[in-house]
Amino acid sequence: MKHLLIVLFCITCAFGGSLHAQDKIKIISSASMFTDMAENLMTDDFEISTIVPIGGDPHKYNARPSDARRVSQADLVLINGLTFEGWITELINNSGTKADVVTITEGITPISSTQYANSSDPHAWMDASNALTYVKNIKNALVQKAPASAEAIEANYEAYKEKLIALDEEIMAKIKSIPAEKRILITSHDAFQYYGTRYGIRLEAIMGISTEAEAQTSDITRVSKVIKEGNVPSVFVESTINPKMLQQIAKDNEVGIGGELFADSLDDPSKPAGTYIGMLRHNTNTIVDGLINGPKEKAQENSADDSLISLVNMPMPLRIAVGLGMLGIVLTVLLKRRKI
Ligand SMILES: [Zn+2]
Repeated sequence: MKHLLIVLFCITCAFGGSLHAQDKIKIISSASMFTDMAENLMTDDFEISTIVPIGGDPHKYNARPSDARRVSQADLVLINGLTFEGWITELINNSGTKADVVTITEGITPISSTQYANSSDPHAWMDASNALTYVKNIKNALVQKAPASAEAIEANYEAYKEKLIALDEEIMAKIKSIPAEKRILITSHDAFQYYGTRYGIRLEAIMGISTEAEAQTSDITRVSKVIKEGNVPSVFVESTINPKMLQQIAKDNEVGIGGELFADSLDDPSKPAGTYIGMLRHNTNTIVDGLINGPKEKAQENSADDSLISLVNMPMPLRIAVGLGMLGIVLTVLLKRRKI
């Protein structure tokens, strides 16, 4: 049904869309951090929009007919690739767009996934030195689309490049300020491998490089072991992921939440993490503070949802016993109702 809607929408665009054509060169990017990078390089020749909204999860986004319309009208589509946006090829194909599709990680050596064979970790932007390759690819695509503005785009690129180089040095120095034995970062999903490799911090996440796979009991046990052995004071939730699982782990291990990190989406534009540079700076400050000074907040008390997670943590015989008990209660209630 979803595909039919997209196809129908594109037929409508083909017959009526050109009436609304504007002079600007239209760019569409898959996620907010790439939009911000492009905005730092763009001249007035361009306008840009983003497919996945702020706070959305690009790993498992459901494209809407309005996305297909925007892609169909675009002149340039910017994507991360490395299987970050698994849904985007279908969206691009179904939209019937004539846009140039540019993979902005081109030239970056990807980190292999430790979880999936022959698969790469998509989160290359989490290393500020990789952002230099991202912006070079974006700059080249912009110059190709608006050669008359090449000089202005190049000047924007040079200025932004300087800021990225300074950011990279800033992160390096700040992470080095954490005592070596305390450099352990525990998050919800495995988005920080590039960050950890570049800046020298050990990573441990409950979920893998994609948020599509469910966490297993073995993941919870593994992370809990690292917290205990490493004497880790704080764990960190992520803006695009439900924090309940990590809060439960924090509570079970009597540690706190060091703060909220941003990986797959920027924060609102008015917030400190509302730009790409602001996001990496916010993450770094939060990590440094949480690992040196301890958590900002205690893990929240158990809610009804959390007790389900506790159930997952129980040994199998106990889980069966609890399950049978719950079934008994439900049956008793149903039988009583029938009698009434
Ligand atoms: Zn991710």
